[in-house]
Amino acid sequence: MTKIGSVLTPVRRKALLLGSGELGKEVAIELMRFGVEVVACDKYANAPAMQVAHRCHVLNMLDPVALRKVIEDERPDHIIPEVEAIATPTLVELEKEGYNVTPTAKAAWLTMNREGIRRLAAETLGLPTSPYRFASNIEEFHDAIKAVGIPCVVKPIMSSSGHGQSTIKSEEDIERSWQIAQEGGRAGAGRVIVEGFVDFDYEITLLTVRSCSGTTFCEPVGHIQVNGDYRYSWQPQPMTSTALDRAREIARKVTDALGGYGIFGVELFIKGDEVIFSEVSPRPHDTGMVTMISQDKSEFALHARALLGLPVPEIRFFGPSASLAVVVEGDTDKIEFDCLEKVLSEPGTDMRIFGKPEIKGHRRMGVILATADTVDEARAKAERAYENLKVTVLDR
Ligand code: AMP
Repeated sequence: MTKIGSVLTPVRRKALLLGSGELGKEVAIELMRFGVEVVACDKYANAPAMQVAHRCHVLNMLDPVALRKVIEDERPDHIIPEVEAIATPTLVELEKEGYNVTPTAKAAWLTMNREGIRRLAAETLGLPTSPYRFASNIEEFHDAIKAVGIPCVVKPIMSSSGHGQSTIKSEEDIERSWQIAQEGGRAGAGRVIVEGFVDFDYEITLLTVRSCSGTTFCEPVGHIQVNGDYRYSWQPQPMTSTALDRAREIARKVTDALGGYGIFGVELFIKGDEVIFSEVSPRPHDTGMVTMISQDKSEFALHARALLGLPVPEIRFFGPSASLAVVVEGDTDKIEFDCLEKVLSEPGTDMRIFGKPEIKGHRRMGVILATADTVDEARAKAERAYENLKVTVLDR
């Protein structure tokens, strides 16, 4: 039976968050609601989840020695990866030594690298994906493009949120695309995936929860990406029943293969009744922030509940909803969100401000949430709220 003891005593249940951004912050809050002791880690100080955790550590999570040390010092009951940039082979070793990684160390390891998850989905599980090839140098890159065909999408195998990603529309784009991938990868220059361009009607994230009470699906989340980065999401995305059944079947297969308890964001491309697997995050997904207004338990609450070994007997969906990322540009450590009473003046609107300490370039700093009778109305309401928001970027 699951038991949770008093925090900050020897009987406490301790969770170590690897990654302390806006998604980690919500997971920390949900864990604390269950009386869990939360230790937040990230590569910089005052990250959003650190501001609500019991303790925090600043470290390079890609450094295997530093990662092992913080885990051995803290001896957490749950290690919860919240980002991809982690020395995941160390998590695999630690799991063998008896530590509990959410959902599993294998899931964190396979999804850190586009090659691992793509080969599992397409080659081991036989799921439909875009055609693809991998390339480690410019010669292999030319061969890969020939095999896949133009148009195609190029991504560093270690990357996320559109970093290093580009689309090749004609032969002239090839050199530039290689350069973009070499400069944008998380681990610096290196191997890329070349994927056939999928001319989808729409794309979804199917939030899938694995808990001790089985597998449960949220209503499909539709979204729009700008340069590979999420800006807009809504729920439910209208789908044909055939497409929805196929989406759930793919999500079940891939999450069963990754195993463990927690929420997964399964990203799928849809064309008519055809469903194509794109990728999966074994953790809450940024497009799933819409669940903070659309459901009785957000994706973060579901993650906390499932990973603690508690059942998820139902997810109550309240109705059509939308989320809109607040992206701010500048070079500053001081910004002000103003006119908030106007932003929240309409019924069915809400907002989160993440509390990120600084901006260099552009950064997601908050999210606007709206709910209405239809998805279109919810999206329009979120946009009206955003138009009322005034963001002032002050000098450093
Ligand atoms: P990813 O980082 O792989 O999730 O890609 C980010 C976004 O780029 C996706 O959500 C799609 O909008 C777009 N994208 C990625 N791969 C493809 C593809 N093979 N064909 C068309 N669009 C793609």
